[in-house]
Amino acid sequence: MSQPAALSRSLQGSIVHVTGAGSGMGRATAEIFAAEGAHVAATDFRGETAEATAEAIRATGGSARAWALDVSDADEVRRVTGEVAGHFGGLDILVNNAGISAFSPIDSNDYDAAWAKSLAVLLTAHQLTIRAALPWLRKSKAPRIVNIASTEALGATSRDSPYAAAKAGVTGLTRALAVELGKEGITVNCICPGPILTGMTDRIPDADRATYARRRTALGRYGDPAEVGHMTVSLCLPAASFITGVTIPVDGGLMARNA
Ligand code: NAD
Repeated sequence: MSQPAALSRSLQGSIVHVTGAGSGMGRATAEIFAAEGAHVAATDFRGETAEATAEAIRATGGSARAWALDVSDADEVRRVTGEVAGHFGGLDILVNNAGISAFSPIDSNDYDAAWAKSLAVLLTAHQLTIRAALPWLRKSKAPRIVNIASTEALGATSRDSPYAAAKAGVTGLTRALAVELGKEGITVNCICPGPILTGMTDRIPDADRATYARRRTALGRYGDPAEVGHMTVSLCLPAASFITGVTIPVDGGLMARNA
């Protein structure tokens, strides 16, 4: 077995693809990877936001390039993943972060549409990006996959069943692929963010956010996107080589709290 001190805590030169990198946790995660010396492929459905993330990284001396990518489009996922690997010379890390919210009561007229969209963007997309990345991950010295789910995968909010079902699917996909790919040294882990201040939650009035956080979390506040990004980056260190198949809440104690 390697000596603990010999296990690398450096991501210098690693190549990472972060989906949904134009906003919120994706952008924060891309910036932290770049600050650690990784080459970052920032992709987003809204290409101009991915470009803004890549420009911000390059402006601080980091290495990044942007691509427009809708993660629910299988052909585009394969094409862009190939371009990312071709541009940087491989792929070591995939962070499946892109997401949408689509509240929909079970008897609403738009339920079928919300279900289809949620499953496509939040769950099916994860297996598409993973399958596209595998040929390169298999050549990596420290291949890592991190899937971003949600505490909605572990508990549930009323009128949000398409999202909850998709996110719970992500935890199952994570475990199944961790078991299937483990013999190849590829780790697959899942993070369940709690309430985080991002583009997804910035329309909630400040007072409502504060009340929710005070009542529901142990820390009594919303999280910062970087607080999730740091956990993602930690799971991708070469030294994180024996962590696989886990689902980690990064939620300020939301899941721990009963009252
Ligand atoms: P955000 O809205 O700030 O960022 C999401 C990004 O995903 C956006 O840039 C958006 O353009 C992109 N995106 C949406 N659909 C896409 C598609 N089809 N293809 C590619 N990109 C697409 O939100 P965020 O909170 O940073 O979300 C990141 C992840 O965290 C999501 O998976 C979300 O479900 C999850 N999450 C968020 C919270 C929270 O409180 N904010 C809590 C739990 C989980």
